[in-house]
Amino acid sequence: MSETAAPVLSIVVPLYNEEGSVAPLVERIEAVARSLAPMTHEIVLVNDGSTDGTLAAIRELMHRVPNVVLVNLSRNFGHQLAATAGMDIAQGDAIVLMDGDLQDPPELIVQFVAKWREGYDVVYAVRRSRKGESAFKVLTARFFYRAIKRLTRVAIPVDTGDFRLMSRRVVEALKRSREHHRFLRGMVSWVGYNQTGVQYDRDERLSGQTKYPLTKMMRFAIDGITSFSDVPLRFVSYLGFASSLVAFVYAAIVIGYKLFSLNPPGYTRGWASTIVAVLFLGGVQLIGLGILGEYIGRIYDEVKGRPLYLVSEIERSPGVQTVARTGGRFSTGASSR
Ligand code: UDP
Ligand code: MG
Repeated sequence: MSETAAPVLSIVVPLYNEEGSVAPLVERIEAVARSLAPMTHEIVLVNDGSTDGTLAAIRELMHRVPNVVLVNLSRNFGHQLAATAGMDIAQGDAIVLMDGDLQDPPELIVQFVAKWREGYDVVYAVRRSRKGESAFKVLTARFFYRAIKRLTRVAIPVDTGDFRLMSRRVVEALKRSREHHRFLRGMVSWVGYNQTGVQYDRDERLSGQTKYPLTKMMRFAIDGITSFSDVPLRFVSYLGFASSLVAFVYAAIVIGYKLFSLNPPGYTRGWASTIVAVLFLGGVQLIGLGILGEYIGRIYDEVKGRPLYLVSEIERSPGVQTVARTGGRFSTGASSR
């Protein structure tokens, strides 16, 4: 933060098929941002390859609202990469990341900024309640946040999404972390510094459908676990040891019966016991391979070294008032290796 000029706040919003919420979203952000004067702001709207009227809606409102930056990606890259693109381009001294469906109330930004002024580098929003989401989603999410907390040593707060404020130095740290399978909320925790949470009630989506169906939620959960924990790999070793132990005991029993020429019990002979052993070991091996494969797939994606996303164009509202002072460069998301 510079001493002489008022700080700049960037609000970054990834948007995928959100034509119904773009205008009300920007209106509410504007109202909040105005109440934070003399702080100035920019609203970075990332169009993540929408197939509806989102892009047109953004361009339309850029004529009315100053300080809007449109980042149009070349196709749909997914929520986490769209958010990354927005944070790479945002120039503020502090950056707020939020969803575009108004499930994250912009009014909370006032509390974020207050905490930031107290000296916190990250202020994240903790979901006290969630409206308009299926019991299944709420339950699985609750379980997931608690599971990942146990699986990793990074202190990832529970019931916390990506809605948060980050200081410039946190964003710079994230810009240096160019991993492909991103679990941003975990990466921000990993950065460290002073972090704190504020509670809020998550609203219903204003319009449209969730862009996270079950399959995408599963992928996201797996990304989160594999990028922050090697416990699944260790689990494979334990599984191997456990089945070796069972095999050893079983072998000892079988050999014992043979040596002493006793009549062996049913479970040591015949087709049934053989097939059970084969299927069991086959299953254990495939689980092991599957877990290894998840990690190898990630290594494969990293070594390809492709850019995280591609920008089609960056446009700014005419009459932009924000002056960039923090040296945020335009970036194509290319890895800096
Ligand atoms: N989103 C995106 N690209 C995608 C999927 C989602 O930019 O491929 C955006 C979406 O427009 C929204 C945010 O990410 O602003 C969160 O998505 P959503 O609200 O569907 O997730 P949910 O709140 O249901 O978990
Ligand atoms: Mg949502």
